[in-house]
Amino acid sequence: MTTRAVAERLVQGDALAKAEILCLLQTDTENAFLRIEARKRADSVFGKTIYLRGLVEISSYCKNNCLYCGLRRSAEAARYRLSDEDIFAACAAGYEDGIRTFVLQGGEDGYFTDERVCRIVSGLKQRFPEAAVTLSLGERSRESYARLREAGADRYLLRHETASPDHYEKLHPPEMTLSSRMECLRNLKELGYQVGAGFMVGSPYQTVETIAEDLLFLQEFRPHMIGIGPFIPQSKTPFAGFSAGRLEDTLKLLSILRLMHPRALLPATTALATLSPDGREEGIRAGANVVMPNLSPPCVRGKYAIYDNKAFETIDTVRKRIQDIGYEIKNVRGDYQ
Ligand code: SAH
Repeated sequence: MTTRAVAERLVQGDALAKAEILCLLQTDTENAFLRIEARKRADSVFGKTIYLRGLVEISSYCKNNCLYCGLRRSAEAARYRLSDEDIFAACAAGYEDGIRTFVLQGGEDGYFTDERVCRIVSGLKQRFPEAAVTLSLGERSRESYARLREAGADRYLLRHETASPDHYEKLHPPEMTLSSRMECLRNLKELGYQVGAGFMVGSPYQTVETIAEDLLFLQEFRPHMIGIGPFIPQSKTPFAGFSAGRLEDTLKLLSILRLMHPRALLPATTALATLSPDGREEGIRAGANVVMPNLSPPCVRGKYAIYDNKAFETIDTVRKRIQDIGYEIKNVRGDYQ
């Protein structure tokens, strides 16, 4: 089995077995081929269109203690919460700039009860009926996800982080389990959300084996959105001393994911833009079709420090940079088709 033969099977749309995925991950000889084919595939599905998602970071409080994340409860971090009015104002500014999907993300913060989040979601839907609302608020009960969906939430992002139970244990405290993460993802799908899963590239203790498990899980679960970005160490976490994930590995995985999931919404993440000055554009060239500019109000900027030196760019800058590489941002919701 040559790496080229496996890459060609992937391009044809065949599902790969674990041994084939490992073969693809272990050698980098076909990276350029994968990247070209992945971009061709993205162009055939989405043309030259890139979708925008406006990210509003609603809370930096978190009850969890994930070892990689700067918002973990034991980290000495600046904590804030946005009010309903702050959130509506941030989204209104984004709407003016053409944003038609709002992503509300935060740590797992008990202040954001179902009642409060439902009020915010329906308030957004009332103000901006053409816009999609995506939530990224971590693990909640099935009942909670059902209520938020009824209030109008369209999509939910919950990265599975790693599909290997052993690896999951190394990234999280004992009270967090991969099985409850997976249960949340299944519930979200059953409730009719467009669902996003995903993982960090180059996280501590990650191996080609664990990445193969991630790809197999995604091949089976078939999420509508897949968020991957490099791990970037955060100085206030136990993983401060680990090295960041590599740009090249992230781009290769974006290409593999595009070929495995032709219609998936695949962001070129802020973490990728943080790792390298033209990371976002490289991500698009490798097959990504979504970018997520930050809409959080300036007063909280720098306080949502999940990793160090997080990149910040205005929508205008992002739009311009994407035009410069021959792509165009459309002011549409950009649902999964
Ligand atoms: N509380 C929400 C949002 C978490 S932040 C939730 O649990 O889904 C969103 C994502 O950022 C996480 O899922 C994780 O994959 C990523 N992230 C966290 N710390 C990171 C780090 N140090 N480097 C890169 N990505 C990180």
